[in-house]
Amino acid sequence: MADLIEKAQDLLKDVDMDAFFSDEEEFAPAPAPPAVDQTMTEKFANVKIYNGFSEPEYNMDDPVFLYRMFYRSLFPYKTYFHWLNYDITPTRSFTHREFSFTLANDIYLRFKSFPNGDALKKEIERLQPVKIDIGAVYSIKPADKKTVSEKAFKPLEKEFVLDIDMTDYDDVRTCCQGGDICLLCWEFMTVAIKIIDASLRDDFGFEHIMWVYSGRRGVHCWVCDEKARKLDNENRKAIISFLDIIKGGSQVARKVRLPVLLHPSLERSFTVVEEYFEPLLLQSMGILDTPKESHKVLMMTDDQVKEALAEKWADPTKTAHEKWEMLIKEEQKRKSKDTCASRDIMFQYCYPRLDVKVSTNINHLLKSPFCVHPKTLKVCVPIKPEECESFNPMTVPTLTKLRQEIIEHDKLPGADKTIPDYKKTSLKSYVEYFDKFVKNMLNETIKEKREAAAMSMDF
Ligand SMILES: [Zn+2]
Repeated sequence: MADLIEKAQDLLKDVDMDAFFSDEEEFAPAPAPPAVDQTMTEKFANVKIYNGFSEPEYNMDDPVFLYRMFYRSLFPYKTYFHWLNYDITPTRSFTHREFSFTLANDIYLRFKSFPNGDALKKEIERLQPVKIDIGAVYSIKPADKKTVSEKAFKPLEKEFVLDIDMTDYDDVRTCCQGGDICLLCWEFMTVAIKIIDASLRDDFGFEHIMWVYSGRRGVHCWVCDEKARKLDNENRKAIISFLDIIKGGSQVARKVRLPVLLHPSLERSFTVVEEYFEPLLLQSMGILDTPKESHKVLMMTDDQVKEALAEKWADPTKTAHEKWEMLIKEEQKRKSKDTCASRDIMFQYCYPRLDVKVSTNINHLLKSPFCVHPKTLKVCVPIKPEECESFNPMTVPTLTKLRQEIIEHDKLPGADKTIPDYKKTSLKSYVEYFDKFVKNMLNETIKEKREAAAMSMDF
């Protein structure tokens, strides 16, 4: 992996990376997450934190009740603790880890830390956060932050994380904008998972990679291998620079310019791009169907191609497929010029768009898996990368649905009501996948620790 990072840095040696990432920014505190939806805030406004002495009467569809049900009987606390602890008994990975909670009344609590999984569970059940963020593992327990100097409080480790949000696709999708998503544009997330997952495994050798639905319009990726957790900011930046190929803001028409000969990693990514470009972009998004959209594509070609195509593309009888063929033909006629434009356009329309800052700052917070999105009430469930094509964000379990499923299960004649509640619901398969993911990782860590202990005994 060191080789590859070196290569990534080499490829970028002409780019002034310092201009993108100033030192000030690096250790600046992570920005507060956006406030929860106003209507939800109002709903929660009169709710007092549950003190455990009396059970207030709630409407069963009230989000306050649903959150309580979720945290009491559905949240996978034990596996969650094992995941962030990387062992069975508490380690610094857990005890020195920052958690942050957003409460229903918009109160935002940072730098919380817990001695063990039970303490975390108790606090979550007491505060009923509408959002849980996970931060870095620090040199000092985050809860003790105020007792030491700022210099002594340093982020040491964190999973390497990636954040991909559909709003960054607004200039290439034509079906929805902003916070909205549909099954058509969700395919951009499928493409992103396929490309990034393959690169993380094949180019960087990572194995313990967990993809999570963000609850509304995107996906998060948690790379949990020990070598990933130990990456410093410089190495995180190098990996991101390698993965992030879409450059330039809204003023730049052509955002991808790759060399004629592609790096093998991009060669592999291109096979995914090729598979999706025609059905997703030419057909579903119709990027050559209207003058407005096809103009965007023309602006990415050179002047000669632009001129030759402007008139031909105006013919309303031509299909998107025929128009695309025309572009390739024009490009081939001018072999000596920019022969890679069509390929780069395909990359620009399909390739994953990463929220770079989330990945490059070790102390940046990221929303936790198994959080519940306060607006959609959907659970942020893990996504199996090998089955990402069939993941449907529209059918992800919501708290309302989970409650219904528990009631229906218990009503069945002869139903075993004593089994854990998650097993009665559609959350079951996601929890089981999470269990399996963490178990694999834990087995490896424990084996490594035993081997290291045996080695030291030998001496
Ligand atoms: Zn859409």
